[in-house]
Amino acid sequence: YGDYNTKIDYVFKVVLIGDSAVGKTQLLGRFARNEFKVDSKATIGVEFQTKTLIIDNKTVKAQIWDTAGQERYRAVTSAYYRGAVGAMLVYDMTKRQSFDHMARWLEELRSHADKNIVIMLIGNKCDLSYLRAVPMEDAEEFAQRENLFFMETSALEATNVETCFLTILTEIYRINA
Ligand code: GDP
Repeated sequence: YGDYNTKIDYVFKVVLIGDSAVGKTQLLGRFARNEFKVDSKATIGVEFQTKTLIIDNKTVKAQIWDTAGQERYRAVTSAYYRGAVGAMLVYDMTKRQSFDHMARWLEELRSHADKNIVIMLIGNKCDLSYLRAVPMEDAEEFAQRENLFFMETSALEATNVETCFLTILTEIYRINA
């Protein structure tokens, strides 16, 4: 049975942020449709996908927003953050710079978003751990200091993708329901 007759109890908006090419779009595709697209995207503009899940016997619709390339032009606007109750701060664990930029992304997020927003730091591409440029301890320390959840994922191999979305959505539910 599809979504048609399902009563939605909650809609939670979650935004993906982080440098270009860290894997935000692939993480979203993996979570929402269990897909990993080999060809790269061409479209520019804000997009979101939804996935409905059950948390604590309630129907929760997760509305996950992807910058769809806007971050390249520093065009992520306040409309993108408006109403968000969760944020995924994504870096590429093989690219140190994408991790070093997390502080800036976090600052931008905190200046635009609600103060109760649930934030998760994500080190993506853990299938390439032989190319690791960010030690797990560095990320853990940053997450602890900034009060963020933290997980390493692979959108390619589907490692921890479901878990990280479920973790953030469960915490969002706990705070907002
Ligand atoms: P975005 O710009 O942050 O949305 O990044 P994309 O989702 O477009 O991914 C950028 C590039 O990284 C693409 O070539 C993807 O195929 C690749 N990529 C994304 N996630 C992973 C992953 O978990 N592992 C590997 N090896 N490559 C990935």
